[in-house]
Amino acid sequence: MRVAVLGAGVVGVTTAYELARDGHDVTVIDRLTEPAAETSFANAGLIAPGHAYTWSSPRAPGILLRSLVDDGQALRFKPSLDPRLWSWSWQFLKNCTAEKARINTKRKVRLCRYSQERLAGIVADTGISYHGLDGGLLYLYRDPGSFARGSANTRILAEEGLDLRAVSPEEAVRIDPALANARNRLAGAVYCPSDGSGDARVFTQNLARHCTEHLGVRFLFDTEVKGFEASGDRILSVATTRGSVAAEEFVLCLGVVSPAFAGDLGVALPIYPVKGYSVTLPLDETHVAPTVGGVDEDNLVAYARFGDRMRVTATAEFAGFDKSHRPEDFRHMLAAVRDLFPSGADYARPQYWAGLRPMTPEGTPIFGRGGRFSNMTFNVGHGHMGWTMSAGSARITADIVGRTRLEFDPSGLMVQDAKSWFSGSRQRLN
Ligand SMILES: Cc1cc2nc3c(=O)[nH]c(=O)nc-3n(C[C@H](O)[C@H](O)[C@H](O)COP(=O)(O)OP(=O)(O)OC[C@H]3O[C@@H](n4cnc5c(N)ncnc54)[C@H](O)[C@@H]3O)c2cc1C
Repeated sequence: MRVAVLGAGVVGVTTAYELARDGHDVTVIDRLTEPAAETSFANAGLIAPGHAYTWSSPRAPGILLRSLVDDGQALRFKPSLDPRLWSWSWQFLKNCTAEKARINTKRKVRLCRYSQERLAGIVADTGISYHGLDGGLLYLYRDPGSFARGSANTRILAEEGLDLRAVSPEEAVRIDPALANARNRLAGAVYCPSDGSGDARVFTQNLARHCTEHLGVRFLFDTEVKGFEASGDRILSVATTRGSVAAEEFVLCLGVVSPAFAGDLGVALPIYPVKGYSVTLPLDETHVAPTVGGVDEDNLVAYARFGDRMRVTATAEFAGFDKSHRPEDFRHMLAAVRDLFPSGADYARPQYWAGLRPMTPEGTPIFGRGGRFSNMTFNVGHGHMGWTMSAGSARITADIVGRTRLEFDPSGLMVQDAKSWFSGSRQRLN
């Protein structure tokens, strides 16, 4: 079948790979000049089933409220008149009960684990490299109270078969000797030995190259999707700035832009952009860089090493589609990571970036066919863990497009399950 995949982020490219492996004739369309040039460009790189907790939890409303008065760095909620923000926030709050948090976290960790297996399969099949590290991830706690809470929370992930261990500061340093200087400031850590890290952008670009060279996938860059040409309940082609692209099946993987097409497609996609900040630091053999990635939980700062670079990310900011950043936005996260790894990288040569997470209120992505057209499949809304969930999401999507037996049960994650007040609205694009 001829399949057009819209979007060449990590989600679109992994989807194109799975579809092409199934024997489909695949074209990928993206408005930018190369794969992974939008949100997949500079994320923290954590492949983290051990951090699959949903953001909507019983503690979240209090944290949100405090962020309105407190000039904190981890969460910045800027009230605006954007009705989509209010709609999304209402849906988010409705997911903050203990029961919903449990259901959403369970769905998420199952998908994360499936995805990690699929990622290993892709790497084994293609041999592509991505600065992958598979020595686990460390979730570090500085405060004894939050360490106790963080250790207790692991139960829900352990119920899904994940091996998570609460470890002492000494053991954390044994796992990652680069933490030696911070030992006295740690209360403890949670170690997930099966988690890992890697550069999502390098992975996506290498996979796109593999798709072109070995699987006959065509990539149309600099080509913006504008709408759809349809007849009855079928899309015939996608209208782009470079003309029409015809296909029999279409897959939407446009990250934060996906809801902009809700009006045309007749579906409500409750996805809101949540901005995050990322800084990349060069390093060489003189630096004592982390050997496994992790999260400084009390500062909500994530870090990972990619070969001769260290990536550090932080902050969840509700600021619409604004991707601007100033050096002061990075001060807090750099101070936190420097405190952990004083000579971890060359802190004098930071490269700053900000990106938008395509968040759903539940924290889980949205799959499947739905809306006005029978040949449009969605693979959207991967939020703060799209790198971790991409490979499994791609396989689920290829199974739906090919009408083959689903290897993973996506119950509760289908487009019919997504609820929004904004059914059929067209979102303004900035
Ligand atoms: C600071 C930060 C840290 C993160 N850390 C992690 C992490 O450690 N682990 C993890 O698993 N996840 C992490 N994430 C989340 C992860 O990066 C995202 O979930 C993931 O990149 C989303 O991928 P995507 O392919 O859906 O979106 P994107 O990468 O944004 O891809 C969408 C593509 O659609 C294209 N597009 C949009 N509109 C159009 C149009 N009209 N026509 C044509 N093309 C169009 C865009 O150009 C883009 O290439 C992080 C995110 C941020 C911001």
